Amino acid sequence: MNVKLELEPLLSEGVPSVRPLIIAGPCSAESEEQTLETARALSKNGIKIYRAGVWKPRTRPGAFEGHGSKALPWLKKVKEETGMYVAVEVANVKHVYEALKAGIDILWLGARTTANPFAVQEIADTLKGVDIPVLVKNPINPDIELWIGAIERLNIVGIKKLCAVHRGFSIYEKSVYRNNPQWQVPIELKRRIPELPLLCDPSHICGSKEKIYEVSQEAMDLNFDGLIIESHINPEKALSDAKQQLNPKELDDILKKIIIRKPKAENGSIVTLEELRAEIDIIDDSVMDIFERRMKIADQIGKYKKEKNIAILQTQRWGEILNKRLEMGKTKGLGNEFVEIIFKAIHQESINHQNKIMNEDK
Ligand code: PEP
Ligand code: MN
Repeated sequence: MNVKLELEPLLSEGVPSVRPLIIAGPCSAESEEQTLETARALSKNGIKIYRAGVWKPRTRPGAFEGHGSKALPWLKKVKEETGMYVAVEVANVKHVYEALKAGIDILWLGARTTANPFAVQEIADTLKGVDIPVLVKNPINPDIELWIGAIERLNIVGIKKLCAVHRGFSIYEKSVYRNNPQWQVPIELKRRIPELPLLCDPSHICGSKEKIYEVSQEAMDLNFDGLIIESHINPEKALSDAKQQLNPKELDDILKKIIIRKPKAENGSIVTLEELRAEIDIIDDSVMDIFERRMKIADQIGKYKKEKNIAILQTQRWGEILNKRLEMGKTKGLGNEFVEIIFKAIHQESINHQNKIMNEDK
């Protein structure tokens, strides 16, 4: 199902609508000084939209949870002094009221909020009749319907300046990422709602500075509209997400290094080579998964044959398989030679697996 949203450009004067749209600022507004100093440095480097968390969702109690409403006037000062747009995260009705009262320009829904339709609906109801841009981060789990659902709930009450933010997905196992990018999810979002702007948040995907450039470049190669990146005047001293925050100079260096490629090929196609390559990668992953599944079944058959003392190679069955696959290949535009090579290789691998099982000790 394709979603038809009523959308308007995210921002008006002051911010050019060319890619990439860059939003930067600290994970949290920690003090008036830190908020303003970071903003000044970023503004000097040409950043036009400033992010800073005021209410921080923390996984475990006891960590720095943000200064709350007390920090909102600091953002007002940022706006007055630098002319930047200011953005904060809202997670409940109170946050929305306070942020609107303080003249905040842009709101964002964090990953934990997007995952909760009750919270999203309450926020949407509070925003009815308000004309403000809202960024919607993906839910912590890779559930595209939940992500689209949050965007729809906001659009239904009349929020037209909407933008999705890809910040990766929670993982249980240790990984090089803090949140797994699973690029196929934002790619699918773009396929389903091509007109919805899409940003990438490499900071929360990476969890550390090291891979931020790489992930940002990948996002731009996948035709994202921009980036939201954490930057702190003194990252080592940051009260939250210290490892992943860049200082303004590091951010500037990365932004200068990123290559922005044309979103469209000369023939007007909106699909970039990188997008197609990403799709190929996803398909190859599935092919490998399917091979793995097939070999597990072959192993089970191997065990059965061993128990019943049956020979591995059943020539008649193999002949039938090959003929059936060759016929099927014809209907799918796959050449005989290709199908034969592939299935002979698969068959050989199954035999190898079964041979191993047959000959291992009980
Ligand atoms: C943040 O942007 O600082 C934040 C808490 O992000 P997320 O909701 O993506 O975890
Ligand atoms: Mn953060």
